[in-house]
Parts: sequence; structure tokens; C-alpha cells
Amino acid sequence: MAFMEYKQRTVTCGQLRGSDEGKQVVLNGWVHRNRNHGGIHFINVRDRYGITQVVVGEQVAESVRSIAEALRIEFCIAVEGTVRRRPESMVNPDMETGEIEVDASSLHILSRCEPLPFMIDEETDAKEDLRLRYRYLDLRSGGMQKRIRLRHEFVRAIREHLSAKGFYEIETPTLIKSTPEGARDFLVPSRLYPGKFYALPQSPQLLKQILMVGGFDKYFQIARCYRDEDARGDRQLEFTQLDLEMSFVSREDVLLTMEDLFNDVFASVMNYKLPAHFKRLSWIDAMNTYGVDKPDLRYDLPLVDVGDIAKKTQFGAFQSVLASGGSVKAIKAPATEALSYSRKYIGELEEAAKVYGATGLAFVKVGKDNILETGIAKFLVGHEAELISVTEAHEGDMLLFVAASWKKCCNSLGAVRAKLARDLNLIPKGTFEFCWIIDFPLFEFNEDAGHWEAAHHMFSMPQSQYIDTLESDPGSVKGDLYDLVLNGYEVASGSIRIHDVELQKRIFRICNFDDEEAEQRFGFLLNAFRYGPPPHGGIAPGIDRMVMIMSEQTSIKEVIAFPKNTAAISPMDDSPSFVDDKQLDELHLIIKQPEKNS
Ligand code: ASP
Repeated sequence: MAFMEYKQRTVTCGQLRGSDEGKQVVLNGWVHRNRNHGGIHFINVRDRYGITQVVVGEQVAESVRSIAEALRIEFCIAVEGTVRRRPESMVNPDMETGEIEVDASSLHILSRCEPLPFMIDEETDAKEDLRLRYRYLDLRSGGMQKRIRLRHEFVRAIREHLSAKGFYEIETPTLIKSTPEGARDFLVPSRLYPGKFYALPQSPQLLKQILMVGGFDKYFQIARCYRDEDARGDRQLEFTQLDLEMSFVSREDVLLTMEDLFNDVFASVMNYKLPAHFKRLSWIDAMNTYGVDKPDLRYDLPLVDVGDIAKKTQFGAFQSVLASGGSVKAIKAPATEALSYSRKYIGELEEAAKVYGATGLAFVKVGKDNILETGIAKFLVGHEAELISVTEAHEGDMLLFVAASWKKCCNSLGAVRAKLARDLNLIPKGTFEFCWIIDFPLFEFNEDAGHWEAAHHMFSMPQSQYIDTLESDPGSVKGDLYDLVLNGYEVASGSIRIHDVELQKRIFRICNFDDEEAEQRFGFLLNAFRYGPPPHGGIAPGIDRMVMIMSEQTSIKEVIAFPKNTAAISPMDDSPSFVDDKQLDELHLIIKQPEKNS
């Protein structure tokens, strides 16, 4: 056969069923397995759609048999043959094509494959860098194929739903003006204008707001966002979000739009029924009850404020924290067969708490008849009944306490809550618990920089009751901000935006941008706001994150075709890489050599 000529498939490897018996077919795909049983070859041929068993029997021409002999795993092949039913005893109920096999009459090697760096299966335990170096092989695995498909289905369903609701999908540029949005910009040097730079968008935030000024009152985009941040946790330098903005809306409209969207998408993509409306928690309640602003509501385990009781005890560690304005909170670790609350295990919980600033984790065990035992029991004498009542504890339960400044206290005990839930197996599989977190503070004080910063971004509207006290008491201002949380992950943030030049300038000033700098950096937005801007608001759910959760993964790399590794490198193409001096010259760049350590 000439080099580029081959038998093209007539069916896919996932298609054939018992009813296809007798058909002449051609399959194209990869050799998944090749077993030789007493001179008969059983070749599993795989493509995106499934796996089909091909049999090369003893009766076929020697030339075909010698090809079967030569086939190695992941060779790309074409097979021609006849579909036949497997004998009853050979039917494989775990394979969609398990009723049939293809009796091969001819075999062709379309391309060969070198020995594999790792086996291609449903999932692999190969090291991440190896998987990323050979991503094309990794992508052939059953797991990656399913997740990339889910991602496609998810995005398609979003596009269909929003289009049906009257949204336009509008692209915004990826070469934009550098405008501080919270993280560090990726910069692109301009060849035509020496010394000038474009930035890659951290998000299309300002452009989508300007689209509102442009009259496109329902916009969305599957947008790539770029943030030049240090490798931390499961971050990627670029990620994808569903960017969405609407005019003439209130917070309620945005929340309902998202609930409607995800109800529809989860039903069509996951066959999963979500509640019509998601729970709502104020930021302060979420922090107080679950210790985080992105609570996992698949399980309960609430934190309880026991400051009032702690105040009445003689326990010095509680007293001093309370005296300095801090909090004392407790969590009930339920008695269970599954886990014994040994000193060692409580030590592990304490380590989890310390990550968030707790200095220790105090504990007591609830004994018979409202008696408290071990740990700090002796300091709580006289207050047992009250403590047991507020924590709703029973015999055998443990009570765990953190005393620290309010935020540290919440976060530390929140970490204990999460660890307990995992270790107690309280997290149900296959469930999706969405909730809204609302009424966030608008500003956060940046201790290092010594000034206030926007907690979300500077374009969010303060709630109206705080308009007169923005400057005098920034710390207490709540914004018209909302986060969508799913299974303990923040999956979207959004807000109603400012559309008034003066108010926007006040916010810039509070965040340490004087009028001149604000004009220089954000003048284009302020200019747009001088021409009849509509009230507007929006949100941006992270696509990678959501698909990760939907496919029950713990890293977004599992749902991105070509992610960077944790060191921000792509092992497959070795980016980032050096460029030619000529390229640097054209861009008017001279590379400053990094200082040697010696
Ligand atoms: N631009 C915001 C972000 O990327 C989302 C929004 O406010 O719509 O986080």
C-alpha cells in the first residue's frame, strides 16, 4: 500500500453490537493489548469511542498473521474483518462492544510506536512530569479521554443555554493594556513601539464592563485568563473562565441566572438534579459556622462559638485571647468506631490547625453523665453541662477548641473540620453542594503594603448603606459581592459594579491610587463611564475548577489538555525557553543576567 493510502474506518471501536453480526467493517485505532493464545491473536483496538476485540485466527493468510505477530502496544493500525458474535461464555459485559469481535481478514500498520514510558490504561500512576512530557500518550488514557469530553460537553451546554437566554458570546482581545487587577500581569513587548508593552488579560473584567457601556446587555465568553503568580497549590498560569456580564440587573438577577444555568447544565451533562435555588450564607456566617468562606456543605460538623462559656472558666489560655478581642470556638468530633481519638491523632488535627495560625488545639472527652475527661477538663469544671448543651455533644464525643484572633480561630478550626470530615468518611461521593456566599467585606487591609485593597477587585459596588463611611471606616464596608462555592471550592466570584465616575475614583483612592495614577491606568474605563454607562454586574465561574469537581478530581491539570507542571514549566515543549538574539533585538530587549549565587 502506498504511503498515504490506507483503509479508512467504516465504524469506530465503540460502535459494534450483537446486531451488527455479519457486517464487513474497517476499524482504525491503537493496539491496546495484543495477546497470543495458542496461535490465535486477540488484539484490542482502541479509539476515542471504545475498544473492540479483533481476532486473527489460524486460518488467515500468513502475511496477516505475521503482521499480528509484529504488532506492539500503541501501534496505530487499520483492521478489516467480519463482525461475529462471541460465544456466550466469552461475552464481556464490562465492554460496550463485549458481545462481538471482529474476525480480521487484513491488518495494516499505519504507524509504529516506540516502547512506552508508561502504560496507557484508564488511569496511570506515572509521575506527573512524565505524563506531561508525553501528554499525547497520557491523553489516550480512558480517564483523560472522559474528562476532556466532559469539559467539551460542559462548555457546549453553557453556550447553548446562554445563547437561548439571549446572551451574545463576544471575544475580547488578549493583548490589552496592563491594568492592575490583583495579580501580576504577563507582559508582551511591543516590537513597533520600543519600551511599550501589552499585557495578557488577568480577566476580561474592564472590557466586559465596557461592552455594557456599548449596549450589549447580556454578554458571555469562554475566556482565557493569565496571571503571573508563583506556583502555589493547584494554580496554572493560564486558566479558563466563563466570563459573564449583564446590564440593568441586581444581585438577585445574577444569582438566579447562574442557578438556572447550572441546573440546566448539570441535568444535561451529568444527569444530576440540582436544587432550583442554592443555599445562601453571609460571609460572616460562613466563617463563623464552617471556618472558611468556601464551606463544603456535603457534611455538617459546625463550629460553635464558646466565648461566653470560656469567659467564665479559669483557663488562662482562653482568658488572654478573649481579653485581647479574640475568639474561642469548639467543634464536636463525634464518637465513632472508625477513628479513635488518640493523642497521636489529636496531634495530627492540631498540626492542621496550626497551619492557619492556631497555637494549639485544646480537647476534652465527653464522658458519662455530662462529665468531661482528659485534656483541659479540669479547667472547665462547673461549665460542663453548658458546653455539652451548646455543642450538642454526647458520651464518647470529643470537643476540640481553638482560641485565637477571630479569623485565625475560624480558619484553624475550619481546617480541623475538613480533616475530620475526610478521616471520618463523612464526604459523600457523587454529590454536588452549591452555595452562595454573599455580603463580603469590600476591602482588606494589606499589612505589607500598609494600605487598603479591594477584597475582590476595585470595580465592585459597595452596599448602599456604607456609601457615606467608605473612607472613614473601610474595614466595615460590605460589597455587593458574591462567590459561588461548590463542594468546598470557590468556583465563581462576581459583583454588581460601580458605574459612576466619582464613586469609582473614591474606591481607587482608598486603594492607594491617586487621581492621576487612576486616570493613567484606568482612564479608558472612566472615560467610558462619562457616556451613559448602564448599571451592570456579572460573575465568572472557573471552567477548569468546575470540570475538576464534576469529574471528582483534585487537580485542574486532570481536566486541561496541556497544563504546565507545578514549577510552571511545560515538560512536553520545554517552555518557557530562550529565544534568539535576533528576536530580542527586534523587541528592543536586553536580558539582565540573573545574579550568580556564589
Ligand atoms: N473578573 C472577575 C475575576 O476574574 C470576575 C468577575 O467579577 O466577574 O475574578
